[in-house]
Amino acid sequence: MFTLISLPYAPDALSPAISAETLSFHHGKHLQTYVTNLNALLPGSGFEESTLEDIVRNAQGGILNNAGQLLNHNLYFTQFKPATEDNAPSGQLAEALQETFGSFEAFKDEFEKKGTTLFGSGWVWLAADDKGKLCITQEANAGNPLRSGLKPLMTFDVWEHAYYLDYQNRRAAHLAALWPIINWDEVERRYTASE
Ligand code: MN
Repeated sequence: MFTLISLPYAPDALSPAISAETLSFHHGKHLQTYVTNLNALLPGSGFEESTLEDIVRNAQGGILNNAGQLLNHNLYFTQFKPATEDNAPSGQLAEALQETFGSFEAFKDEFEKKGTTLFGSGWVWLAADDKGKLCITQEANAGNPLRSGLKPLMTFDVWEHAYYLDYQNRRAAHLAALWPIINWDEVERRYTASE
């Protein structure tokens, strides 16, 4: 059975990019629902002993949707930290971003554009292939780059529940506000992890 993750920061630590009220609903209600739904679907599914990643790689239908949303939100909520000025990656990830996108600024512009232009509900991802080559993917609904054989590194949730209480229809303004709270040490850890 899967459980709701704990947040590694205080409820008001990400404001104004993400308010305590949004976190309360997004983590406490929306994510809890995906946990509850997935656990209800597991018995008899053949995935009772599987990891979340293996379910996302191999399942279909309702199990895939709920497992995808659980994995996506676990990666999303654990990639944040309280805001800092001039927040930017370092190390191997910074080098790879520069190599692929030309600069960190160009990467951010492209990532925001991919998030703003994703029609409907979904996720924009920074992902890496098995050679460490970076790319940005747009995923509808509960999509995750694992389904394409890529390693998911960092993501913006563009479902309206992620920002509507704070930003209403202004998705682009919400996405632009997320850069100061990205925990690049955590993203770098995912990038350099062997599995
Ligand atoms: Mn969400």
